[in-house]
Amino acid sequence: MYGEIAENTTAFANERPPDGICAQCRSAVEPFLRPELLDLPARWIGPQNICAPCAEKQASTQKALEEQKILNEAFRSSRVSPRFKQRRLINFVPTPGTRRAFEAALKYQLSDGGLLFFGPCGVGKTHLAASIANEQLGKIPTLFVSCPEFLLELREGIGGAKKDSRHQHLLALARNVRLLVFDDIGAEKSSDWVQETLFVLINHRYEQMLPTILTTNFSLDELDGRIGKRITSRLIEMCRCIRMEGEDWRIKTRTQKMGTSG
Ligand SMILES: [Zn+2]
Repeated sequence: MYGEIAENTTAFANERPPDGICAQCRSAVEPFLRPELLDLPARWIGPQNICAPCAEKQASTQKALEEQKILNEAFRSSRVSPRFKQRRLINFVPTPGTRRAFEAALKYQLSDGGLLFFGPCGVGKTHLAASIANEQLGKIPTLFVSCPEFLLELREGIGGAKKDSRHQHLLALARNVRLLVFDDIGAEKSSDWVQETLFVLINHRYEQMLPTILTTNFSLDELDGRIGKRITSRLIEMCRCIRMEGEDWRIKTRTQKMGTSG
């Protein structure tokens, strides 16, 4: 996904705080050496301008930024289009058929584990999944990919020594990313290779208890037939599965537009 992460900005970013004051939170920072005792220039040895908790926070943000950059570069072509950047919970309009899913997305915490939204086309499954990804982007390394496109890209990476390593690289990133949002599982054309690849991915995330958000147009029974029982049973165990129902909003919008113009 387009990982435009806000740089770590603070109100004090532009003014240099006095020595011994944390540039981030303005708490006092103890100088670790007294330059006057060693007769060294204060500029060289001087007190740090960041306190330990802020330094730690900065380092973990930096690490997340770097991981996100690697993800964005690796998944240049299979990540979801910019339109999904606009998908936020704030612009989701729940209906009786989608309220339960909406509330689960609203309250979602990484410690909840996984979510699987299933139901017919156009009820807002991808919108909710993208909203969760957008919420986490910039906080933790997050990957939002469409399952069929991911498999296509992976497949293109097979064959030839150099290509093979790209295939392995993409798969490893998706297996280990802190949060994986996997859109439209089951929509790809099924084959032994597809089932095996998905199993390797899903099983690893299941074993490592890594949170995964999925969407599918199929019922859980139908999903069994498409991706195989051993994957579906993992998904059911690692995710809260929520059915979404209602009219297709794309068709609804089009009908409304036709109604007003005609
Ligand atoms: Zn601080």
